[in-house]
Amino acid sequence: MTAALRSALAARLTCEVRYGEPLSRHTTYRIGGPATALVLPRAPDDVAATLRFAAESGTNWLVLGLGSNVLVADRGFDGIVLKIGKGLDQVAREGPEGSRWSVGAGLPTPILARKSAAAGHGGAQRLVGVPGTVGGGVYMNAGAHGQDFSSCTRVVDVVDSTGALRSLKGTEIGWRYRSSGLDSLVVVGATVELVPGDPVQTQQELSLYLKKRKDGTPFDEPCCGSVFRNPEDRTAGHLIDAADLKGFRVGDAEVSRMHANYIVNTGAATAADVRAVMDAVRERVHDRFGVVLEPEVKLIGFVEGG
Ligand SMILES: Cc1cc2nc3c(=O)[nH]c(=O)nc-3n(C[C@H](O)[C@H](O)[C@H](O)COP(=O)(O)OP(=O)(O)OC[C@H]3O[C@@H](n4cnc5c(N)ncnc54)[C@H](O)[C@@H]3O)c2cc1C
Repeated sequence: MTAALRSALAARLTCEVRYGEPLSRHTTYRIGGPATALVLPRAPDDVAATLRFAAESGTNWLVLGLGSNVLVADRGFDGIVLKIGKGLDQVAREGPEGSRWSVGAGLPTPILARKSAAAGHGGAQRLVGVPGTVGGGVYMNAGAHGQDFSSCTRVVDVVDSTGALRSLKGTEIGWRYRSSGLDSLVVVGATVELVPGDPVQTQQELSLYLKKRKDGTPFDEPCCGSVFRNPEDRTAGHLIDAADLKGFRVGDAEVSRMHANYIVNTGAATAADVRAVMDAVRERVHDRFGVVLEPEVKLIGFVEGG
């Protein structure tokens, strides 16, 4: 980005912009090269202004939440990264008796799970172990233990690539397994409808599922959650385990010994290391079982052969 474009971008925004920011600081993998510009919007208008600027200047852009489902290339991202977080992280129940909650896209999903469970509202408590934002969760249709965003989301507020703000109904989202039809839109907020119940019971359920998560996955290690989508019939983790790949590593990237569909960064893994492990896993699983594993993790900034 030229100096002229930088100052044109800065002139449009009142929020913070960082140039050359390492994306490793913004991903749960702790991996990723620099973004040309990282915009930290404080309001939907900052998102709209950034997208208008990108459209007019022909600059690439992408949106990140907590970076918990991405692998960013070592070379980084050539363009603007909009990081949806603080400033867009409000959470409020609509009316004292209401079962609808209005949430900002930057709110961490575990906070939504905890706050709603504490109020005795069921429907999001099992998402406590999904360490991303509500915006990323809606976009990915994230879910766990039988709950996902498609089941509770009634309205999604988005900014489109021309910078226009719109509200979409939950039925217009194009939900699929771990994906949605929201490509090229930035989620800035959502309204979720939960089910009033007993606070003690929802809290107990929340604790149970968090414990299960911590006992069964390398939850506290740098990773991106499940790397591959589950194929029909069997889980990706089962296939990778059955291919004797637990502990397989390249550099500091290793197939978790705890859960085979997680590849963890055991120290100073690069994106190239993780890609090399992914390629080896896909090849071995295909050779042994004839199944082609498809990535669930979003690959960012990679070019063919790099
Ligand atoms: C330890 C661990 C456990 C996990 N467990 C689960 C699990 O049980 N179930 C599950 O579904 N996932 C799980 N994940 C993956 C991840 O947490 C979810 O996919 C999460 O919803 C991603 O949210 P994020 O804010 O981190 O998105 P990011 O990783 O920042 O982005 C992911 C994708 O969403 C897009 N995106 C992000 N924010 C927005 C927005 N505001 N508007 C539009 N698009 C956006 C990005 O462009 C990118 O394509 C896990 C990850 C980790 C590290």
